[in-house]
Amino acid sequence: MSFELPSLPYEMNALDPVISKKTLEFHHGKHHQAYVNNLNKLLPGSDYVNADLETIIRKAKGGLFNNGAQVWNHTFYFASFSPDPKKEPEGKLRALIDRDFSSFDQFKGAFEKEAATLFGSGWAWLVMSEHEKLSIVQTSNADNPLRDGLKPLLTADVWEHAYYLDYQNKRPEYLGNFWKIVDWSVIEGRI
Ligand code: MN
Repeated sequence: MSFELPSLPYEMNALDPVISKKTLEFHHGKHHQAYVNNLNKLLPGSDYVNADLETIIRKAKGGLFNNGAQVWNHTFYFASFSPDPKKEPEGKLRALIDRDFSSFDQFKGAFEKEAATLFGSGWAWLVMSEHEKLSIVQTSNADNPLRDGLKPLLTADVWEHAYYLDYQNKRPEYLGNFWKIVDWSVIEGRI
């Protein structure tokens, strides 16, 4: 079994100027593709030849874990965006956000803070526990909350390759603009 790079659900220039065509060409076309290629090179002869990606994330170690998780994380990240997004969550997700963060605005502020203060490379996540409690967590490098039994709902990639071409060292500016392209209809569907 081998994995393939999923196509983006929008054109390369569709998220400009929040995320430029140049960033997407490198981030999806080079970085995400490289994680797929590396995973496929590591699979033959491993314990995970016929495993799905979630099994690899939950159980694998070393390069298999790093590349498998980065394939999943990037697919999940890129699928969250739209050039014509639903700007705010409704329904059950909105009720949980209002309950656990007081308001949607307070949630956004807390998420930006976690993402901005993550030291080094990694990801910020909105996650849901098995008891439907929402929280925001940081993971380093390729790590993924599935390993801690948490259900990912939204993520921000804060590796420098996600924003450096467009924002250089200004990670908070990237995160402030991030909300302009997050499609809450997609996020609602993950609950
Ligand atoms: Mn990335």
